[in-house]
Amino acid sequence: MPEERVLSPDINFIRDLKKVGGETVKKCYQCATCAVVCPMSPDERPFPRKEMIMAQLGQKESLLADPDIWYCHNCNDCSKYCPRGARPGDVLSALRAKFINENAIPSFMAKIVRNPILALAIPFVILFLVLAAEGHLHIPEGKIVYSHFFSIHTIENLFGALVALAGLSYIISLVRFWGKLKSLNGTDYKMKFGDAFVETIVEFLKHTKFTKCEANADRKNGHMLVFYGFVGLFITTCWITFYYYVMKIHSPISLADPMKWWANLSALSLLVGILIIIGNHMKDKGINTKTSSFDWTFIIMILLLAITGLLTELIRLAGIRQLAYPMYFVHLMFVFYTIVYFPYSKLAHMGYRTLAITYYKMVGKDVM
Ligand code: SF4
Ligand code: SF4
Repeated sequence: MPEERVLSPDINFIRDLKKVGGETVKKCYQCATCAVVCPMSPDERPFPRKEMIMAQLGQKESLLADPDIWYCHNCNDCSKYCPRGARPGDVLSALRAKFINENAIPSFMAKIVRNPILALAIPFVILFLVLAAEGHLHIPEGKIVYSHFFSIHTIENLFGALVALAGLSYIISLVRFWGKLKSLNGTDYKMKFGDAFVETIVEFLKHTKFTKCEANADRKNGHMLVFYGFVGLFITTCWITFYYYVMKIHSPISLADPMKWWANLSALSLLVGILIIIGNHMKDKGINTKTSSFDWTFIIMILLLAITGLLTELIRLAGIRQLAYPMYFVHLMFVFYTIVYFPYSKLAHMGYRTLAITYYKMVGKDVM
């Protein structure tokens, strides 16, 4: 006789899920069309129907350890064909947002990120206090050099400490997720972690799984440009540090320098990628789907990060001091937002998705 299991629905979880974009979850009548059309769904664990049932029953703990919610690439092929308008693609997206919220350490940071005004007010106050402490609450005279406003060491110390804190918080969250994956899904490994991890990273770099989307196939280009834009900007930061400490080349660096070319191309990649993503979200593709406020907030913040970054450079080149320094200040607010809130924003997807796919490869359940 099968083991009897008593399910205790978490009503608050269902309520919260509806608030973050999963309001259609109760419409599902479990016809399984979504699991049939989903290009990522394997026969032995068909999703997203299983997640729709679990969400309707408020099975929070099982859902938050479910690698399949990260396997989903939000292509919305399922939402296109769902006969009930239950928008399973959006419900899975809401589950991921809920997961990031629940798994965040410290939890209050996740609440801050959900309030964009507060999330931006914090860097404003911190940067303002730093300027005040350095006695730089004025527009510097002469040639525009941003290190005359915020010194290089101030930026390094401030952002270095913030990156360390955000990184530590993110690593703890990822380790917790890995523990949940193992405890609820088993450890019958067929592949070593290192091999599975490298394979997953190669797939990410090529965006292989995105090519399976049908209804939302054009998402791939925008996503890739944003991804490589961030990678490029990270390399730029390392490059500038190398220039400063090893080559003793200080800012402002000539526009003809290869580092500048690289930095500007990376920023453009980010900007074009995010514009494609916005266009994609606004385009009517005849799919019943809705972008959540969690996703929109992130998209707008990244757009503003790219725009203020480019304006900071253009206004400096135009020599408008009164505008250049305030623009740099605003840009740093968005840099702060991106880095410090990384573990609590949509960017946190990267690590969780990597671990989920790595885990499936290790237990021999990857579909590709
Ligand atoms: S989400 Fe839609 S397609 Fe999927 S099982 Fe429910 S009703 Fe059917
Ligand atoms: S959004 Fe796409 S990948 Fe995700 S469950 Fe639906 S069909 Fe599958």
